[in-house]
Amino acid sequence: TAGIDWDRVRADFPLLRREVHGKPLVYFDSANTGQKPASVIETVDAFYRRHNANVSRAVHALGSEATESYEATRTRLAQHVNVAANELVLTSGTTFAINLVAYSWGLSNLKAGDVVLLTRMEHHANIVPWQLICERTGAKIRVAELHPDGSLDLDALHAAMTPDVKLLGVAHVSNVLGTINPVAAICREARKRGITTVVDGSQALPHMTVDIAAIGCDFYAFTGHKMCGPTGTGALWARRALLESMPPFLGGGEMIKEVRLDEATIFNDPPHRFEAGTPNIAGHIGLGAAVAYLDGIGMDAIAAREAELLAHLTEEMQSVDGLRIIGTAAKKAAVVSFLVEGAHAHDLATLLDLEGVAVRSGHHCAHPLMKFFGVPATCRASLAFYNTHDEIEAFIAALHKVRRLLG
Ligand code: PMP
Repeated sequence: TAGIDWDRVRADFPLLRREVHGKPLVYFDSANTGQKPASVIETVDAFYRRHNANVSRAVHALGSEATESYEATRTRLAQHVNVAANELVLTSGTTFAINLVAYSWGLSNLKAGDVVLLTRMEHHANIVPWQLICERTGAKIRVAELHPDGSLDLDALHAAMTPDVKLLGVAHVSNVLGTINPVAAICREARKRGITTVVDGSQALPHMTVDIAAIGCDFYAFTGHKMCGPTGTGALWARRALLESMPPFLGGGEMIKEVRLDEATIFNDPPHRFEAGTPNIAGHIGLGAAVAYLDGIGMDAIAAREAELLAHLTEEMQSVDGLRIIGTAAKKAAVVSFLVEGAHAHDLATLLDLEGVAVRSGHHCAHPLMKFFGVPATCRASLAFYNTHDEIEAFIAALHKVRRLLG
């Protein structure tokens, strides 16, 4: 990552200058939600101060400005992930995106006897919608298991792709373990067997270059707030023909061409067919600014920076007595789940907070994964490119102190 002044990059994030409990903040919870650079905050602020209007409705100047900026975000986001803009549905995030797939594609394509194949490391957002659809359609869920290091057992996954499997849901990157799954190879195997694939990219977009076209999936979902964008933003990508074949999920304004009370309403074309109602306009325009910001640094540079931070963090954590890292796959994003002998994850996180360190504790919306590792909860340190080696040192010092406190 030579040539990039990472201290200057960090200075773009106003919040990172604050203190908590009288200590400099060490924000290691970016997998939960990421911090925002000033350019994103200013873009949202400027929208409300100078441009605020609804999209796609008014012909007046402000209405056109809002629509143009909103659609410019779609284009910018599409370029960022190498897909066509008219294949990108803007959503409130991954949860909405996967529910859209489940209720629109799932309800019209799944039936009794079909199988939805999920991996053990899915977030609840890629489990519960499928459970709800299986209840309605009579389809069943099957789970593909992991190796003890928290990587997918690919042989088992391929063996589980029997002819009754209609859909495969797989996380690109695990939010708990950081494991990076070989989604392109997995989707290739699925495609050979005619299985529709939905990839949950929530934790991939913040950390690396994601080329959706190269992955070769059918659906790819992601969320904006983990990639420097505002909350309540995100997208679903699907191939154009697939989107065109799908019925609406929500009905209302924006998603129709003509509403007739005596005959069938004519729906809008995708992506607008799936964007009923007034969207998060300011948020998505802010997400456009976030993508511009990330592209300005470069996702490959960000990935390299985070690999350095992850190597440093992992090595130092191993020096802490009684600390166990959960998830040690060879290919990982900068997300580290851990436990300390004799301490509950919540107590650990509470004591770390008093030292200024923000880590998440709990089940991380991944109950089946917790069960696999035989723990009720973990602590999770998740980093971003704006974190520093000094923060890692401060975190390790805090861990040692907490261990002493806990006896
Ligand atoms: N999937 C994964 C892997 C996640 O980490 C998250 C966020 N915790 C989600 C889905 C849900 O994203 P959102 O809450 O933004 O819809």
